Amino acid sequence: MTNIKTRFAPSPTGYLHVGGLRTALYNFLFARHNQGKFLLRIEDTDQARLVKSADKEIFKILKEFGLKYDNKPVYQSKRLKIYQKFADQLIKDGKAYYCFCSPEKLAKLRAEQIQQKRAPKYDKTCCKLSPANIDKNLKAKISYVIRLNVPPNKEIKWNDIIRGEVKFNSNDIDDQVLLKSDGFPTYHLANVVDDHEMEITHVIRGEEWISSTPKHLLLYEYFSWTVPQFAHLPLLLNPDKSKLSKRQGDVAVSDYLAQGYLKDALINFLATIGWTEGAGSEQEIYSLKELIAKFDLKRINISGAIFNLEKLDWINGYYIRKMKVKELTKLCLPYLKDINPKLAEKIVAVEQERLKKLSDINQNTEFFYKEPIYKPELLIWKKSNKESTLENLVKLEDFIITLKDKDFSEIKTLEAKIMAWLKKEGYGVGDMLWPMRVALSGQQNSPSPFEIAWVLGKKETLKRINQAQIKLK
Ligand code: GLU
Repeated sequence: MTNIKTRFAPSPTGYLHVGGLRTALYNFLFARHNQGKFLLRIEDTDQARLVKSADKEIFKILKEFGLKYDNKPVYQSKRLKIYQKFADQLIKDGKAYYCFCSPEKLAKLRAEQIQQKRAPKYDKTCCKLSPANIDKNLKAKISYVIRLNVPPNKEIKWNDIIRGEVKFNSNDIDDQVLLKSDGFPTYHLANVVDDHEMEITHVIRGEEWISSTPKHLLLYEYFSWTVPQFAHLPLLLNPDKSKLSKRQGDVAVSDYLAQGYLKDALINFLATIGWTEGAGSEQEIYSLKELIAKFDLKRINISGAIFNLEKLDWINGYYIRKMKVKELTKLCLPYLKDINPKLAEKIVAVEQERLKKLSDINQNTEFFYKEPIYKPELLIWKKSNKESTLENLVKLEDFIITLKDKDFSEIKTLEAKIMAWLKKEGYGVGDMLWPMRVALSGQQNSPSPFEIAWVLGKKETLKRINQAQIKLK
């Protein structure tokens, strides 16, 4: 395919939804895979829903995720004259008409239709106005909108790249407002005009826009414009198959970033829920580069993409484990308030294997930099008792005093030293290591005593073992 052009066309109405990021990603991947262009358009014609600097957040996120667009973003609000011109053209051609009906009249019509269990639809009253009446209304400056003139009983269909043939009957389509009374276009008019003018070849967007597509197809026909190909992406779903919604968890991309999901992991996750490389492929980890090489719209699963947090955690954990400790520490520091970066690096080294997201670094890690508070009984291992636990802690302290600083330089060295001592003296592993671990962490579950001692260093380790003895006395 040549000259492929896709676009991401978000409305700046608030935070960027993870579904929006997925749409952007798929548009980007498809364009890059085909050496095409990926364009950005800000659909800001709904003045009532506009949120200030929502566009800036979109730019920031796309940049952060490496989804580079190839144009200077187009703002629809700067193109009002163009939409107006095309609306006028449709009126001239009889493909659209002025509608002077008041909001009250429309509300009444709607209520009646709903009461009669009919789908609410404009009744075309104004389509039948004589040119003289239209002129009169315009001169009297009666407020109006411009509506699409949908023909009766016409089959409108397209071949969707993802879902195959999709058909509508025009009887089920409302005479959509194209231009509002404030002179702003609606989504439908602006979207089609811009896709045409930007020479978009593939419209890749969420499934929620399917019912808009027949209206768009009519517009393409009325303007005699080349119709782009459409690919409607299945919804993102919760594991119970309900629509991914704020009620069940986070939906804003910024929330996921704030929790410490890595951008490569999020991209990997969003790409692979709902898309597979091919039958039999079990690959789950993909870099952006690899996705560009392999992405194919035809391999998108039509049945919906399950936003499975466990899978995201797994993928994120994978990327976290792949990182160098130094790099990972940098990313973890904001979650570890006011602690010495050297100590942070050690904590990160110990926790890296277990982290699912960066913010986990502050879960149960406080004991590394704050003396733990715990009940003395927790120190006693299974069938052991207070006296022998105390005795063991004293022996342990005496042994650790003999260790050199360099024995603390690596977890492995420290572990080997302590284990050799246990063996030589014939001490039970649980009898000695359980109280040691609790003395150091104050926790029922924690990293191994060697890992903790390594993070704490010799001095602090001895101090805590000593404190534990005092607790038991
Ligand atoms: N502005 C629409 C949105 O916010 C764009 C839909 C489309 O891609 O046509 O999703």
